[in-house]
Amino acid sequence: MDVRNNGGGQEIEAPNNITIKGILRLLMANTDGCKKVISLGIGDPTAYSCFHTTSAAQETVVEALQSAKFNGYSPTVGLPETRKAVAEYLSLDLPYSLQPDDVYITAGCTQAIEIAVSILSRPGCNILLPRPGFPIYGLCAAFRHVETRYFDLLPHKQWEVDLKAVENLADHNTVAMVVINPGNPCGNVYTYHHLKQIAETAKRLGIIVIADEVYGHLAFGTNEFVAMGVFGSVAPVITLGSLSKRWLVPGWRLGWLVTNDPDGILKSPKFVERLEKYCDICGGPATFIQAAVPAIVRETQKVFFSKTINILKQTCGICCRKIKEIECISCPCKPQGSMALMVGI
Ligand SMILES: *Cc1c(COP(=O)(O)O)cnc(C)c1O
Repeated sequence: MDVRNNGGGQEIEAPNNITIKGILRLLMANTDGCKKVISLGIGDPTAYSCFHTTSAAQETVVEALQSAKFNGYSPTVGLPETRKAVAEYLSLDLPYSLQPDDVYITAGCTQAIEIAVSILSRPGCNILLPRPGFPIYGLCAAFRHVETRYFDLLPHKQWEVDLKAVENLADHNTVAMVVINPGNPCGNVYTYHHLKQIAETAKRLGIIVIADEVYGHLAFGTNEFVAMGVFGSVAPVITLGSLSKRWLVPGWRLGWLVTNDPDGILKSPKFVERLEKYCDICGGPATFIQAAVPAIVRETQKVFFSKTINILKQTCGICCRKIKEIECISCPCKPQGSMALMVGI
């Protein structure tokens, strides 16, 4: 990053990292006069008419808004009832129970990423990121002066983490590694065994696992979704998620950062203070959306989730078949989850 002058009112450059949205802006701007381009890069399910959220979720938001009880500030870590509901919702996947104060409510998973990277940053530190991965992590790290080191996901091993590479990249300045499961952009859904290996590697290296589970439960292949928090007592896990993908409402900007850490390493007063203060800067999402979360996570019908899963499974099958018909590109590993598919050229 080229920071020319920090104090004289002159221009400072943005980091070189480019996000998916940045790439799309470039691609879609350069298509004039050519064939019509169908963007396969939009990560927003609401752009397609087959994906819409439940009417119950919408009604709950309307009710919360019209009650006029949620027009004020919420605590910056989130409304108590929202934290409690997310703790209960995520505990369904765990061998232990999360407590409300393990949960910090954020403006989507994106803000949870920003908070996680920022609170872990310290001078000289580095973070281990998956490649292919989700570019927001690199961009946040660049803004926080956190060095990024990339480990490969292995296409012919169902996009598993190259754990040897992780061991080789880490040093005493490594603070965390990021695991995205179900994965964007690879569509991986990791087995219990592989997640356990990841946790054991993190333990050996003395680092935290940041588990991006924004696609939690969006799995349609042979591997079931297993929450990384299951291994929270092997290595501390910070789980990130949101309503955006499973409930198909990315515009509601409702996410969470959760410390999955039954042994309490992430509950040290200093760490909690740092997290709370960072949340004071961020402010959290709209209060009336937060107020709707308990009903949304408790009362959504199974049939809504299975409908999304079926559409994803079907469209993934169509994509894989079509890709086989195209020379020069291939799909090394059929996705088992999320909304993404990675091709090889
Ligand atoms: C979509 C996405 C996010 C961001 O989620 P929001 O809740 O929309 O902010 C984070 N991580 C991954 C891997 C994603 O695909």
